[in-house]
Amino acid sequence: MTRYADIIIDISARQLDRPFTYRIPEELKGHLQLGMVVEIPFGSGDHVRTGYVVAFRDKISYPEEKVKTIIGLAGKQAISAGSGQSEAAEDPAIRLASWMSRTYGSTMITALRTVLTARKKAAPVEKRSIELILSGDEAAQKLLYYTEKHQVARARLLKELMSASPLPYELVTGKLHVGAPTIRSMKEQGVLAVTSTVSLRNPVKLGEVDSDHKTLSPAQKSIVEGVLKDYDSQDPAGRVSLLHGITGSGKTEVYIAVIEGMVRRGRQAIMLIPEIALTYQTLLRFYRHFGDRVSVMNSSLSEGEKSDQMERARRGEIDVIIGPRSALFTPFPKLGIIVIDEEHENSYKNESMPKYHARETAEEIARERGAVLLLGSATPSMEAYFRAKKGEYRLYELSERLTGGELASVQVADMRSELQAGNRSILSAVLRKKLEERLASGEQVMLFLNRRGFSGFVSCRSCGHVLKCPHCEVSLSQHRDGRLVCHYCGYEQPAVKICPDCGSKYLSGFRAGTEQIEEVLKKEYPGARILRMDADTTRRKGDYERILSSFANEEADILIGTQMIVKGHDFPRVTLVGILLADLSLYAEDYRAAERTFQLLTQAAGRAGRGLVPGEVIIQTYQPDHYSIRHAAHQDYKGFYEEEILYRSLLRYPPAAHLLAVQIMSENEDEALQAAGRVREAVQRYLDEEEDALIIGPAAALLPRLRDQYRFAVYIKAAKYDTLVGCKDVIEQWKHTLDETGRGQEVLLQFDFDPVNPY
Ligand code: ADP
Ligand code: ZN
Ligand code: ZN
Repeated sequence: MTRYADIIIDISARQLDRPFTYRIPEELKGHLQLGMVVEIPFGSGDHVRTGYVVAFRDKISYPEEKVKTIIGLAGKQAISAGSGQSEAAEDPAIRLASWMSRTYGSTMITALRTVLTARKKAAPVEKRSIELILSGDEAAQKLLYYTEKHQVARARLLKELMSASPLPYELVTGKLHVGAPTIRSMKEQGVLAVTSTVSLRNPVKLGEVDSDHKTLSPAQKSIVEGVLKDYDSQDPAGRVSLLHGITGSGKTEVYIAVIEGMVRRGRQAIMLIPEIALTYQTLLRFYRHFGDRVSVMNSSLSEGEKSDQMERARRGEIDVIIGPRSALFTPFPKLGIIVIDEEHENSYKNESMPKYHARETAEEIARERGAVLLLGSATPSMEAYFRAKKGEYRLYELSERLTGGELASVQVADMRSELQAGNRSILSAVLRKKLEERLASGEQVMLFLNRRGFSGFVSCRSCGHVLKCPHCEVSLSQHRDGRLVCHYCGYEQPAVKICPDCGSKYLSGFRAGTEQIEEVLKKEYPGARILRMDADTTRRKGDYERILSSFANEEADILIGTQMIVKGHDFPRVTLVGILLADLSLYAEDYRAAERTFQLLTQAAGRAGRGLVPGEVIIQTYQPDHYSIRHAAHQDYKGFYEEEILYRSLLRYPPAAHLLAVQIMSENEDEALQAAGRVREAVQRYLDEEEDALIIGPAAALLPRLRDQYRFAVYIKAAKYDTLVGCKDVIEQWKHTLDETGRGQEVLLQFDFDPVNPY
């Protein structure tokens, strides 16, 4: 029997981020498991702290009397009987946490918290209940039958249910002594139904929906077979597959079929969907196939409900979990597949420490657990497509819409010539004309205002030229005093009055918002019914759904919105989509600006003509020749990819190379800037021999001051990810020495590997 446990204390201090050894008390021997949360005395005052068990050991290298003893388990963690042997097994969650801490440069404790969140409050209270579904007569007959057959337990349960239904599940298995197999077989006989709080919170109850089995198209079928074959053979080359398929090409149907294959093999599945795209329709489709063996995770669940679901997953009571990023940590005993739908979405990147990406983390989990990973998107991320083209991922394509519905026709309106023709309005002549046609014929219109990115950039309204950093090829942003600054390298130049490209004096940033557009339209079309969806109109819970359903019920003619409106919803009556300021997202001070623009435009265009009438899309832009706009207009992903990857390779941005953003913060500006300088020096010394790396900065962050913290960044570009991990280690060592002199407290460091959002 092991005598000691290594414990990571739940304190956010880098100095304490290492395991401390404690003695296991008699009553916990044989019960303690890796990942459990315990209470321990800590420090000279023996303050009670909590910590995670990360390892077991039999020997210590220092005197026995120096070892303190664990006080007990924290919270309401159940000691399940017969769990004694599990202390030998290595917990995959702890291994994953240590991988995350190494890969993303976070402390072990923050990684553990991320991976084990739902376990901390493990209170596996099952609120399931049993409900009689027979009519009075049928029940009486069944009771007679059970009594005749001497099926005592069944008769007892049925009798109870006839006087009171539903009954709590625990009451039935406890007080009534009816075992789970009996309940299951009565359920199969159609006598009763088992419902749980979790599935009650789900929008659909089993039984209300009819099953819907589609015959897969040959293209879908070969993808399903390919992925399952890769799973069966455990071929490392087939660990990850990317499914590139336009919206409506049948990707979801493929996910469902692959997951069914896994369930037949006795395996479980994690299905990641961005929360905003997790619609009722999508859920319904999964329920139709998996009934109450599927569970949903979303941010509206309480911590307790989340941990209940984790517990059900651990016990093998569900086969499929659908949820956002954090569903990745569902502790399934026999994970077979992770599916990531809309894998290009930014929400898959965690923006607090550890700054992990769900795609990479899923790949690591799949590798460790012998599972496969299936990524899907209509506009794959540069990362995923790059790897697929290199042969690291399998690449599958679906290029046709299955339910008819032709792709919308797209037209580009050049706002530079509108300006020349004297039109200073936010609507181009062509969009105005088509909008009026729709208002007359009673069809619906969506106006999408691209507000992604930041309004600090400066561009020419005559020629579309954008002022960019000569070193980084990202937009310069204008500060209050007029200076133009690069947030990657710190380059600065004085204000510019005349376009360096065409000499025009119409240089400006864009300031238009959804509210202004709504005002303009209301004034010009007083009869039109207009809905607006943006951060302001969706503050309260339920606002988002309310606006969408009101538009779906045709209570409005025009829906104006930000990128929120472009996700996954089908409005068959929408025949016109207008994209205002299409190029706005191009000016974000961010190397991913073109990729984001292409994705947004392609998605927005996909909203038109989902019904029987073919749709039209008008893209309004000052840069009609920009490749992201040109290719989006033709819905040409590959064309876009080829141009974008050239830019990334040339300037050594991910995925062509790797980028580490070291974020340095302090309440004292000098301290922060000085520390940033030291970070650069430390990296420079370390990289001396390394030719294939580049240090950029320090530069002020995009938000140079946030919550009283001055923020700077140093960027490191390298061909190999490991080089960056090495840099991170060196920076941590430097910080450690600084902490020991007592001067480190004021400076905070964060690492962001291959950042997705600008800092
Ligand atoms: P995606 O996930 O790529 O947007 P879906 O899987 O939602 O595509 O499929 C789009 C539409 O086509 C849905 O209405 C779906 O029910 C239907 N569909 C998908 N596969 C088939 C099939 N094999 N046979 C008939 N209809 C299908
Ligand atoms: Zn110009
Ligand atoms: Zn620069």
